[in-house]
Amino acid sequence: MTDELIKFIQDQLSVWPMASANFRSMKAADVRDLTVGGIPVKAQLNPCRIGSTTAVVDKEAVAARPCFLCVPNRPKEQFHLKFDGRKGRRYNVQVNPFPIFPNHLVIARDVHVPQSVWHNFVDMMDFARCYPEFLVFYNGPHSGASAPDHMHYQAIPTGLLPLQNAIDRWLDEGQTPLATGQDAKLYHFPHFCRGVYALRSDTPKSLAKLFYRLVDCCPIIGDEPEPRLNLFTYCYKEEYRCFVVLRGAVRSHHYYSQGPDHLTMSPGAADMAGLFVCPLKADYDKLSGPLLEEILDEVCISPEDEKMVAWRMTRHQSKVDVPIAEGDEIVFEMISDGAGPQRVSLSEGRICYGGALYDELYFDSVTRSTVFAPASFIIYGAEPRRYAGSIRFTVEGGTIRASNHIGIENYLLSKMSEELSPDLPLEETKKEVIRRRTEIMAETEHQEYKGLTIEILTNVRQAVDLTWGQQNQ
Ligand SMILES: [Zn+2]
Repeated sequence: MTDELIKFIQDQLSVWPMASANFRSMKAADVRDLTVGGIPVKAQLNPCRIGSTTAVVDKEAVAARPCFLCVPNRPKEQFHLKFDGRKGRRYNVQVNPFPIFPNHLVIARDVHVPQSVWHNFVDMMDFARCYPEFLVFYNGPHSGASAPDHMHYQAIPTGLLPLQNAIDRWLDEGQTPLATGQDAKLYHFPHFCRGVYALRSDTPKSLAKLFYRLVDCCPIIGDEPEPRLNLFTYCYKEEYRCFVVLRGAVRSHHYYSQGPDHLTMSPGAADMAGLFVCPLKADYDKLSGPLLEEILDEVCISPEDEKMVAWRMTRHQSKVDVPIAEGDEIVFEMISDGAGPQRVSLSEGRICYGGALYDELYFDSVTRSTVFAPASFIIYGAEPRRYAGSIRFTVEGGTIRASNHIGIENYLLSKMSEELSPDLPLEETKKEVIRRRTEIMAETEHQEYKGLTIEILTNVRQAVDLTWGQQNQ
């Protein structure tokens, strides 16, 4: 498969003089070895990157320019190879005309949809499995993407990124994971800069699940659609591997400075993986390990947020059983199994389900674990109600009772959204949440609630997250 890709690149460069000249000058580029955050890295003098480095990526500027990843706007010399993602997502594999690496590719969706990490990660892993000599990387819309309006990722030969090599060596020494999920493991890599996580698994599904759990635990800035991050994935022997660098800022102060500390550098995925791209000779000559550490310190995640991510990834919640419905017949639906509405009914004092009789029935939630769990089932009645967690049916007092087996923090999220006002200040909301959590922990029977049917209040969401597990003494 990889041969086909290499031939495509050669064919493309043979008919596109501009791209071919850029590949030649990139190969001849001056490269320096430095040490940053305890790992060996490289700085590259690469004049053809000036356009990407200085690209204005605010909403207005992006909306005003023709999208260079849309086929009608491409240079006439550019063509592509097709790659099929999952669920009908199609991609055009193209040569990057402004390369940082040999055989540098851009894999762009065939339609103009925004850059997004949601759902698309499995396609990146599929590409890496299909072309195992390539590593795939992704710049978030606020983390270095120069086309935040058009979904794309990039591919380069594996083994060229200093951070990948440092992580692979480090993992092979044997490390203790920060979190695990099914057959996937997540590690906090303690070198280079803050917010570096490595993940490994035998299956793309498990890796994606743990990756999205990490994404769910990351801070989101303002109304941005996803946490700021750079993402890298590749196949290592029989494993799927991935690493993530969490970001704070798009650029460091050096970029905006008019003074002697000015640097025309805009960290994207390559820089955040230890290949620092510098388009201007004057800047390149100034680079040193400490200066690059200063840049990274400003563009990676803050120490407080890094602590928050680790806490969210590792914290637990105790489970409670909350009554949610009762009757001689209950109609319900497990959202993820695709089987549609199901029915349990009372028969001979037992629960009849699918033609058989039971004393008790339990349907486990198969949704991924997140900061707060999404809805996993629906109970149909006068109004359908949506709940997170699992559902249990029992017979008590001659009727079927449905109860929701759910984490106490998820229960609090819904229950307090029913009870409190959206205008209650955060500090007051936190006090109320802690008071209620203390009560619930002491109770043996819990109050019925409407689950995720009602709107979750922002102040409640923040308060439950920030006070997770806290009780009054
Ligand atoms: Zn486009």
